[in-house]
Amino acid sequence: MAKKKTIAGLKFNGGWDYAAAPESKDHIRLQKQYDLFIDGKFVAPKSGKYFDTINPATEVKLAAVAEAGTEDVDIAVKAARKSYEQVWSKLPARERGKYIFRIARIMQERARELAVIESMDGGKPIRESRDIDVPLAAAHFFYYAGWADKLDYAMPGARAGSLGVAGQIIPWNFPLLMAAWKIAPALAAGNTVVIKPAETTPLTALKLAEIIQEADLPPGVVNIITGAGATGAAIVNHPGVDKVAFTGSTDVGKIIQRALAGTDKKYTLELGGKAANIIFEDAAIDQAVEGIINGIFFNQGHVCCAGSRLFVQESVADKVIRKLKDRMETLVVGDPLDKNTDIGAINSKPQLEKIRQFLKIGVNEGGTLYQSSCAVPSKGYWCRPTLFTDVSQSSRVVQEEIFGPVLAVQTFRTIEEVIEKANNIPYGLSGGVWTDKGSRIFKITGQLRAGVVWANTYNKFDPTSPFGGYKESGMGREGGLHGLHPYVKINA
Ligand code: NDP
Repeated sequence: MAKKKTIAGLKFNGGWDYAAAPESKDHIRLQKQYDLFIDGKFVAPKSGKYFDTINPATEVKLAAVAEAGTEDVDIAVKAARKSYEQVWSKLPARERGKYIFRIARIMQERARELAVIESMDGGKPIRESRDIDVPLAAAHFFYYAGWADKLDYAMPGARAGSLGVAGQIIPWNFPLLMAAWKIAPALAAGNTVVIKPAETTPLTALKLAEIIQEADLPPGVVNIITGAGATGAAIVNHPGVDKVAFTGSTDVGKIIQRALAGTDKKYTLELGGKAANIIFEDAAIDQAVEGIINGIFFNQGHVCCAGSRLFVQESVADKVIRKLKDRMETLVVGDPLDKNTDIGAINSKPQLEKIRQFLKIGVNEGGTLYQSSCAVPSKGYWCRPTLFTDVSQSSRVVQEEIFGPVLAVQTFRTIEEVIEKANNIPYGLSGGVWTDKGSRIFKITGQLRAGVVWANTYNKFDPTSPFGGYKESGMGREGGLHGLHPYVKINA
């Protein structure tokens, strides 16, 4: 009798593990305590206060960091003003460009150090800080260095001048990259800067201060002051600030907008989002699943433009959700410094509590919660990749920004229905569409009220491309030529 042949099933997601591949941190030199970077020097805060910054993956303290009070903010703004009037605005534009270019080059030279510190301080996987955050931050300096002596060509028919002192406040999700988004165009247009990184992620900004010293930038052109919300508010309200650039939550953006109403300060607000990632039945499904994963789980979902609302055409919904769950099972959650890690630590304890709160809300509203079955470390702040099905337009997990690795899945039948649903939200920052048909892409991109819409891809960034939102996602654009405008005064 012939022997019965058995064909073994292929199994991609079980039975084996990656060997650990941790990035070395032996070369990292962190001080025990960091002062404020004002007028080209590190100076102790007049407030006398310091706060701790910790590694969210281990809960271990990395350094103590100065907390700038109102007097410190005043000193920083005055240093920026003096430098603006006496040095920076008087320099030939091409000389400004050279300094910015030099910052970019030194960032590249110190890229590994910056990437490791970014992952230690913020919890993001080293693969992302190494391959995305740091190279993109350097690319922004390179890009705007090129514009410094071409402003009159950037704004044809006008003589482009600078505004003065820019007060800039950034969040914790892309600390170095956000600093680059803010500082590079401001300097290129001839302004000086007082910038505050977020409380939980000040270290790469302080390393940037060292780079700025190394680049020999004239003192006071860039002042980096650390602190919490009160420090940010003191920058916003300082009468010596000519322009405010804020990236952060919509709630704080509203407070800032109210504070600036009636003043002659210019401002840009880059706020929250709740993007629709739309999958049509004719999409290349496997690629779309990768796009969904990248859209929501990149940087633990701490991304303003995260594809946190998934819309799948009903005819392929079961297939997409099944493949999505399989793919979620393969995601490696854990040590941010391990090169195999896909999802690192949640940035802070309060953020983890906020995410957990939303998980409860989603379940209480009738949503079906699914989480991958991966193990997570016992110390540190972690959230397994999560998705909700059985949610509706009115669910809070659909309407509100969670800022974590949590995806809300809905289905649709027609293009009109999905456009209506995608736009029915207070935010309008970004979106994604997956389809084989170009005409459908144009229809969707033309009708989504979102500043950035990706087609058959997601979360792609480039310094030459503007970024910004509609509605409660803010006002103004950063990046590209558009990103210069808010820092320029047009002279007749
Ligand atoms: P927050 O708005 O809480 O904080 C942003 C920054 O503002 C921080 O440096 C913070 O300081 C500071 N700040 C807090 N309160 C005030 C205040 N009253 N006046 C002035 N400054 C203040 O946001 P998160 O840090 O929690 O960042 C996440 C948010 O940022 C998300 O909503 C996300 O969507 C949005 N974001 C938007 C982006 C965009 O381009 N549209 C890009 C990235 C993030 P501290 O942290 O020290 O308290």
